[in-house]
Order: sequence, then structure tokens, then C-alpha cells
Amino acid sequence: MLHKNKRPYQLPALRDVIAKFDLSAKQCLGQNFLLDMNLTRRIVREVGNLKNQVVLEIGPGPGGLTRALLETEAKMVFAIERDPRCVAALSHLSGYFPGRLNVIEADALNFDLFEVINKSKITIVANLPYNISLPLLMSYLKKINKIKSMTLMFQKEVADRLTAKPGTKTYGRISVIAQWLCIVEKKLSIPPKAFVPPPKVHSNIVKFTPNFLHPDPILFQAMETVTAAAFGQRRKMLKSSLKSIFHNPIDILNSAKIDPSDRAERLKVDDFFKISELYLNSKTIL
Ligand code: SAH
Repeated sequence: MLHKNKRPYQLPALRDVIAKFDLSAKQCLGQNFLLDMNLTRRIVREVGNLKNQVVLEIGPGPGGLTRALLETEAKMVFAIERDPRCVAALSHLSGYFPGRLNVIEADALNFDLFEVINKSKITIVANLPYNISLPLLMSYLKKINKIKSMTLMFQKEVADRLTAKPGTKTYGRISVIAQWLCIVEKKLSIPPKAFVPPPKVHSNIVKFTPNFLHPDPILFQAMETVTAAAFGQRRKMLKSSLKSIFHNPIDILNSAKIDPSDRAERLKVDDFFKISELYLNSKTIL
């Protein structure tokens, strides 16, 4: 549905924006653009109802996804972009949607939007460069209480890891931490040819819906420590891999009703949570 102001036919075509602002894709910035508005609209549909929502888009590039977001009833879109050429193009776009697009020139890895907006929960949507997608996801999971949902593009292998279930080869740290805090769903599968230029890998849209568990930062850190120890040596039995963090892992595992001879990849998310609580207790006792 279209929101107020000028109609989209007045918007220049994305390809003309690319020519006008000289947005030839730079590999160093992980630039693989989405220029098909049918696709960007489909991605935005996966987000759900955006009425009156505050949206954060990271790495908007020439603005294909940004346009699809602005066509919804979202109250405000904040777009964080590092490339000054794209910032110029987006500032031009913001003229078509007065007061609804706020373009911020910054490195998303060092910019804390939650400090700027602290009232409403933010909906995050992004087709990100693959090299920063996991660090950014981790930083957002740490602030999950401020997030309504996240709909993000990942390369297929990472999407598989994020949604992996226990007992599979792809199940690991990131599966546990993401699924601890969110319902994680693989959505659209996107082939390389959908991007300009096409990347080497297939991609997936992954949607994260917080499950309202808002862990203390100390507990989050404990989950990171425990999953790092357990999956760092994933072929070893837990009684041996957890020696790096417990004096007596066998007792700890028994008290959590977990078989000490099991391996990390067989444990459920909840098992890691139990071990992390015991890890925190053991720290307070020390
Ligand atoms: N979302 C756009 C562009 C995808 S390419 C589209 O779908 O067409 C990834 C974008 O992220 C590029 O515009 C790149 O300049 C930007 N980017 C890369 N690293 C960034 C960072 N650290 N912070 C903010 N933006 C970044």
C-alpha cells in the first residue's frame, strides 16, 4: 500500500539512480544490489505489518529495499550506510518521502541506534554485506529487548547454520544463541542472479522473532562462553570439552541431567541454557 506524498512513478528508476550517483558496486564494501522492486517488496512482505513501526535498515545502498519499506505504513525508516555515494542517492530519495527517511552516514558496526531511539522497539530489515552480517546479528541479539523483529539476508550456508536443529552438522554456536532468543525462520531463497553484480553464493532471507526472553548481559556472556567451549571441540565429549571452563564438568553435567558422554551438537538449546546458569553459579561461588 502506498503511503502519502508523491507517487512512485515520479521516483527515478533505480538504474538511473545508480548512473546519476555513480554507484558502481564496490567489492570492498560487499556491494551486491537488489534492483528488482518485485523482489524487494516480497522481502518486505515477510516482515509483516509495519504500520507505525520504526524501521532500521543497514546498508541500504541505492535504496531498492528502502523504497519498498517506505511504501508501507512504517512511521520512520532509519538507514545506516557507509558509502557516501549511496548516502547522496538516499538523501535524494528522502525528498520523496518527507520526514520518513532518516539517512545516517556511519559504519553500522560502530553505530548504536538504540542510543538514539529508546522509546519504541525497532524492526530491523537488511540486505547486508556478508562479512558483517554475523557480527551485527550478534550485537543485535544482545539488545533483543529493543527489537520487534529482524528480517535479514544471509548467504545460504549461514542461514542453514542459524536455523539448524540439534543432531545436524550445521548446528553450532550461532544456532544455539539465535534460537535461544528468537524463533528463527528461513524465508525466501534468493539466487545469485537476483543481485547486481551476482555474488558467488546462494542467499536466504531469515526472519528472527524475539521470544521475549531478555537475558542479563552476564547470562548472555555465559552462553557465549559455554557454547564456545562446547563447539570449539565439537567432536569431543562434553565431559572433556567443558574442562576448559569447569573444574569438574561431569558433576555439572549430571546435575543438569545431561549425559557427560554426549557431544555439543546433540544438546538442545535449553541444555546450553542450563549449563550456562550453572557456569554463572560456579563463578559466583569462586
Ligand atoms: N541493501 C542494498 C545494498 C546491499 S549491498 C540492496 O539490497 O540493494 C550492502 C550495502 O551495505 C552497501 O551499500 C554497502 O556500502 C553497505 N555497507 C557495507 N558495510 C557497511 C557498514 N559497516 N555499515 C553500513 N553500511 C555498510
